[in-house]
Amino acid sequence: MHKMLHPRADVERLYIPRKDGGRGLIDVETALKTATVGLDHYLKHKEGQYPKQPKIQYPRMLLNSKGDKREVTMPEIKNREDKSASENAKALKRVFKSKTKSRKEEKWKNKAFHCQYPKILEKPHVDTVTTNKWLSSNLKGETEGLLVAAQDQAINTRNYQKVICRQQVESKCRMCSQHEETVDHIVSGCEVLAKTEYISRHNNAAAYLHWSICKDHDIEITDKWYEHEPETVMYNKDNNITIMWDMPVNTDRTITANRPDIIVKDSVNSTCKLIDMTVPSDRNIALKETEKKSRYKDLELEIQRMWHMKTVVIPVVVGALGTVKKGMVHGLYPADAQKEHQQRL
Ligand SMILES: [Zn+2]
Repeated sequence: MHKMLHPRADVERLYIPRKDGGRGLIDVETALKTATVGLDHYLKHKEGQYPKQPKIQYPRMLLNSKGDKREVTMPEIKNREDKSASENAKALKRVFKSKTKSRKEEKWKNKAFHCQYPKILEKPHVDTVTTNKWLSSNLKGETEGLLVAAQDQAINTRNYQKVICRQQVESKCRMCSQHEETVDHIVSGCEVLAKTEYISRHNNAAAYLHWSICKDHDIEITDKWYEHEPETVMYNKDNNITIMWDMPVNTDRTITANRPDIIVKDSVNSTCKLIDMTVPSDRNIALKETEKKSRYKDLELEIQRMWHMKTVVIPVVVGALGTVKKGMVHGLYPADAQKEHQQRL
């Protein structure tokens, strides 16, 4: 009703913690089962206190068709004699909860379309903490619902209509008619959208980055990042920092890639950062990072030679559906960037 959950988005994912890429709701069924399992265990092992053993009325979902307790839902756990009944019950509840969680994750990962996002999260080069961070920010439920639907590949694309709904439809993209219209194609692979939508997305994201960098260096900026219009050159004379936006660097020898999104020139510490942003398909983040580094290699060496500054290229690569590569966040911090630079020298 409030568009917070797309009808075709993954339901298991609702109950997975936000830090693990889910939406962090408490599953009432699991909560009830956990409480009952714990109480059952406690009463069975607690001695002496009750004159008469109370009888638990089990919730119907814990019973089988004959009305007996369903054994499958009870995890096996060794009752430790050195622990009290309540401590043992707590341990049992923990096991029960974590088993339910892994069952849900397993189900999420095994669905044909919904599995794509959790599978990307599993890749060794992906920084899952940073990638899932957006789920803990205070987005509107409706916005979050749409983004999650896109990650779940649940958007009504032509490919979805054909493959999942088995409709007799043309599955090529409505914009370019060249490729299959999948979520991945729409958010990062369409040549028609590249000329308009992808450019404005890139500029917005890079402008936010510029706003944050200016803020970091005490340069006066607007309160709200979305009202920020980057100026070509911004300067803080107190700490001798120059921040350039989308400005070509004049070099003695011809260098084609001479215009990174942002250049941060620190004349006090003699350092220079060439920051370039890109939003590729989530599958390609590692490749794009390498590509950016080699693209600006010539400029890096040339600036080093001309300005006598320690220069470093910092590619800022964020997948179109939010995937962040390991090491990217650290790359933005000066200390780490300098260390990396020295190692390379
Ligand atoms: Zn297209």
